[in-house]
Amino acid sequence: MNIHKSDLLILGAGLAGLRAAISAKETDKNLKIAIVSKLYFLRSHSVSAEGGTAAVLYEGDSYDLHAYDTIKGSDYLADQDAVERFVRTMPNEILYLDHWGMPWSRRDDGKIAQRPFGGHSFPRATYAADRTGFHALHTLYERLLFYDNIEKYQEYFATSIIIDNGKFNALTAINMKTGEYEIFQARVLLIATGGLGRLYPFTTYSHTVTGDGAAMALRAGMPLEDMEFIQFHPTGLVPSGILITEGARGEGGYLLNKNGERFMKNYAPQKIELAPRDVVSRSIMWEIQAQRGFEGPWGPYVLLDLRHLGDEKIKERLPAIRDLAMKFNGIDPSKEPIPVRPAAHYTMGGIQVDIDGMSPIPGIFAAGEAACVSIHGANRLGSNSTAECLAYGDITGVSIAKYLQRASDIPELNMDKVKKEENRIYKEPFKERGTESVASLRKELQNTMQEKVGIFRNEKDLTDALNKVKELQKRFENVYVEDKNMFYNMNLITYLELSNLLEVAEVVILGAIARKESRGAHYRVDYPKRDDVNWMKHTIALKKDGKVELSYIPVRVTKWQPEERKY
Ligand SMILES: Cc1cc2nc3c(=O)[nH]c(=O)nc-3n(C[C@H](O)[C@H](O)[C@H](O)COP(=O)(O)OP(=O)(O)OC[C@H]3O[C@@H](n4cnc5c(N)ncnc54)[C@H](O)[C@@H]3O)c2cc1C
Repeated sequence: MNIHKSDLLILGAGLAGLRAAISAKETDKNLKIAIVSKLYFLRSHSVSAEGGTAAVLYEGDSYDLHAYDTIKGSDYLADQDAVERFVRTMPNEILYLDHWGMPWSRRDDGKIAQRPFGGHSFPRATYAADRTGFHALHTLYERLLFYDNIEKYQEYFATSIIIDNGKFNALTAINMKTGEYEIFQARVLLIATGGLGRLYPFTTYSHTVTGDGAAMALRAGMPLEDMEFIQFHPTGLVPSGILITEGARGEGGYLLNKNGERFMKNYAPQKIELAPRDVVSRSIMWEIQAQRGFEGPWGPYVLLDLRHLGDEKIKERLPAIRDLAMKFNGIDPSKEPIPVRPAAHYTMGGIQVDIDGMSPIPGIFAAGEAACVSIHGANRLGSNSTAECLAYGDITGVSIAKYLQRASDIPELNMDKVKKEENRIYKEPFKERGTESVASLRKELQNTMQEKVGIFRNEKDLTDALNKVKELQKRFENVYVEDKNMFYNMNLITYLELSNLLEVAEVVILGAIARKESRGAHYRVDYPKRDDVNWMKHTIALKKDGKVELSYIPVRVTKWQPEERKY
């Protein structure tokens, strides 16, 4: 059994993980860093971010305006001190990337270009055509190569976080190439594992986004925050679910119902198509419920019309979505509108961390989509996530480097827990105990989440979903991993991913049942109003003796009092 040791262990190599590594190194060049990822770093989901990254760059915009938009967008659940720190950190992040080679799109005067995005009252989404994440991740990766003493463990699947005596002890992982069990120890662990969108079948997320970090944290006894808030992006391409960036509406695209009407005018008279995502997604579903959507072989949809932008602008500003529409649907967006429907897109909740990125467990930090700082509250604004990964990747990297100056040495490995985990992942799955398969259980789970824990929620559906998830958790014990060859055993990996999805599904549903109000992306048909008196608070989920318990902590308000959200 290989045991790898470092000062800082980073789990996840998306924008958040890589940005934190650079920033920790910039703060202390002597740090030894190990980065672990189940994918080749450049395949992290961040690579598919399309539309842009929010930052205040020009006159007319201000930190207060960006903060206010974010807080209003969050339906007043964001922690305002964290938001203020975030907006102030962002402009430099854009410039660092620029200096490191990021090909930001430019205005005619040569300055960095920005475009409008939903819920922002200034066009502050900074972009590189519609391949922003692709270029940002490559730029960070290239920058990472400047530093010595960073070990890269690609295609290592982390299975558990071991906490001993209340402190971080080790991370267990499967070397996917060989199937071997390997252990990572460090003085600090940073979790940057991204979201959990593959809980849903119709989603913009890659197949690899399976909530591993949140599930491992929960099992290890760490608190998760605000997990009931799942964002649905208004424009998932039908039927694949692939994202059509909000940048398409930012550049002037319309949403049309089957009467050819720009229906968003009726729901958000000022912002129209550029209202925040929770508002636009609900509006699309209301149109569909009122029989004003289109019916197709793959379910209902509305149209995203870009024809009036013209071929040239589409090619220049939205080349990737043009490509996607053509390859996946045979549609040239300059000639035909694109069929779209809301798709699961983002996880507002995550591992609870403070304003420096530290979790309540000494030695463990979290950043990016896996963390809940909380900047996005109940609904994230578009372009604020890649931004959070950069800003909070940076902030957390610095705070880790400082923490390491006083952190204790690597503790003695807790062999009992290491053995127990070895049994869970190498023995249990291969027992011939039943005929259930990963694929069929995952499908049942995803369909349940889509039908009962989606955009519109109610007590009965949520309770049914909870019962179903409990049933699936039980049936999971009968899942049998047939493939015994340990060389790239994807049967085993998807088995472990499903166990993680089942773990986090329960937390999402419990939080949603408990929250008897509508706020941001969490819309309860049976409680359609926001209730600031009883519910302006964060949900905290902890697993104790195998049972998930919920508690609540207050929202930190600095200067923006809750008001009615109108767009
Ligand atoms: C299609 C799409 C488009 C988007 N467009 C935008 C946009 O334009 N603007 C914007 O602001 N936001 C956008 N977002 C959201 C944003 O891209 C993500 O929230 C953000 O990139 C997440 O970055 P991350 O570093 O937190 O995690 P990720 O990039 O998801 O990386 C997670 C890392 O963790 C690793 N990992 C996970 N589990 C394990 C495990 N068990 N063992 C080992 N490694 C593991 C993965 O291998 C990966 O390296 C988009 C999201 C999607 C899905």
